[in-house]
Amino acid sequence: MEWLLWLLVFMLGAALGSFANVVIYRLPLAESVVTPPSHCFSCGARLTVLDLVPVLSYLLLRGRCRHCGHRFSARYALVETVCGLLAMGILLLLGPTWQALATFVICYCLVIILFIDLDHMIIPDEFVGIIAVVGVALDVAELVRRGAPAAVSFSEWVGPTAFTVYLPRSLVGLVGGAGLLLLLGFVFEKALGKPSMGGGDVKLAGAMGAVLGPGYHFLSYFLLAVVAGAVVGVALMALRLRGRRDYIPFGPMLAAAGIAVLLFGDTIVPWVIARFTL
Ligand SMILES: [Zn+2]
Repeated sequence: MEWLLWLLVFMLGAALGSFANVVIYRLPLAESVVTPPSHCFSCGARLTVLDLVPVLSYLLLRGRCRHCGHRFSARYALVETVCGLLAMGILLLLGPTWQALATFVICYCLVIILFIDLDHMIIPDEFVGIIAVVGVALDVAELVRRGAPAAVSFSEWVGPTAFTVYLPRSLVGLVGGAGLLLLLGFVFEKALGKPSMGGGDVKLAGAMGAVLGPGYHFLSYFLLAVVAGAVVGVALMALRLRGRRDYIPFGPMLAAAGIAVLLFGDTIVPWVIARFTL
C-alpha cells in the first residue's frame, strides 16, 4: 500500500504545481490568481475537474482542449510534474518533518520564480520574500535548539576583556548573498559597459543566503549558478538563439541551483568545494 501514499504525495505536489502555473501566468499580468476560474485561452470554455487532474488530464487529452482542440503548452504538465517530483523527493530525503515542509515551500517558490523570470525577466518580490522569511524562521528555530553554536560569532579583546558578538547565520547570509551579487553586478557592468545584474537577482541571492547561511553551501550554490549561467549563455550564442548583446536572465540559474543544493547539497557541496578551493 506504500505506493498509494507516494502516488498521493505526487498528486498533491502536482496539484500545487497546477496552481503554480496559474501564478506564473497571471501574477506578471497583475491578474487575480483566484478569479476567473481556469479556462481555455482559445474558446473560453471553463475547465472542469476532469480537465484539471494534474498531469493525467494532459496525457489523456493529449494536451488539447476538450471543447475546441486548442493545444496547451507542454510546460503546464512539466511544472506539475516537477512539483510532484519535488514533493516526493523532499519527503524521501527529509521524512515527514518541518524541515521537509519548509524545503518544499522554498523549492516551490523557486519554481515559480524560475518560470516568471524566464517569461518576463521579472523576479517577483512576493516569492523572494517568502523564501527569506522561511530561511530566517528555520535559522531562529535552530538558534533556539542549539544556542550559541548555531550562530556566527567573533571575539575581540579590548584590553583584558574579551567581547564575543553573536550574529544569526541567516542574517549574515542574507547580507553576504546580496552583497556578493551587487559586487558581481558592479564588476560585470565595468567589464561589459552595460548593466547586467537586476535588482531581483540581488534580492533572490540575499534570500538564498538567508536559507543556506554564510558558508560553503552558499558558495557552492553561487558557483553552480554562475557556471550554469556561463554554459547556458555560451550554448545559446553558439546555437545563435541569442546574440552577444542580448540579456540572458540570471534568475532561472539562481533558482535551479538553489533547488539542486537544497536537495543534493550533501553530494554537490563537497564536490564543488574540492574543485574550487585551494
Ligand atoms: Zn478550448
